[in-house]
Amino acid sequence: MSDGYPGRLIIISGPSGAGKSTVVRELMSKCELPLVLSVSATTRPPRPGEQDGVQYFFLSKDEFSKRKLANEFLECKEVFGLGHWYGTLQSQVASGLKAGKWVILEIDVQGATTILENKTFNPISLFIHPGSMDELEKRLRLRKTEDEDAIAARLETSVSEMQYLHRYQYEIINGSVDVAVAEICQILKDQKEKQPCSKN
Ligand code: 5GP
Repeated sequence: MSDGYPGRLIIISGPSGAGKSTVVRELMSKCELPLVLSVSATTRPPRPGEQDGVQYFFLSKDEFSKRKLANEFLECKEVFGLGHWYGTLQSQVASGLKAGKWVILEIDVQGATTILENKTFNPISLFIHPGSMDELEKRLRLRKTEDEDAIAARLETSVSEMQYLHRYQYEIINGSVDVAVAEICQILKDQKEKQPCSKN
């Protein structure tokens, strides 16, 4: 139960390149719980193949600022110091929780900290990482979505992001996607068992 609503909030964070998006996608297709992914807003431009309203709501900086001023975000942060903002929309979370869904927030450690400190929700928090910085660098390069400067910036950020690991309830080492997905699904099912009156 989160904020009086029947659904649950799930926070998934981890360094860029840890494989979070792949794990989340597989989790949603394989885990038999009513999972839904909250679509965030961002000022970063879409990558090839990304669509507005699917991976993100892609906003101009002006539009993002307007929504921030209108309190439309549960949290929003400038994630990598590269001038791109990311934010969790209240509307995405509220509609999912009201419908009894388990709403997944795939957000950075700063945004997660804001939500964990807020105490309104009772989120299940998971931190995914690939086990070593060498592995992380290898994965970022394989992805071929960032240039050298962006890779260097993301690796530098990862070192500080790892310092937040202890704030999360669960640490998931993503060596194999299938194993990570099975582990997370089991954690969520165990949490469901612990709910006093689970409807879903
Ligand atoms: P990417 O640009 O690779 O899609 O995401 C970059 C980072 O932004 C990832 O660590 C991702 O988890 C984070 N992120 C995505 N959406 C949000 C959001 O709504 N809030 C915050 N704080 N971080 C987000």
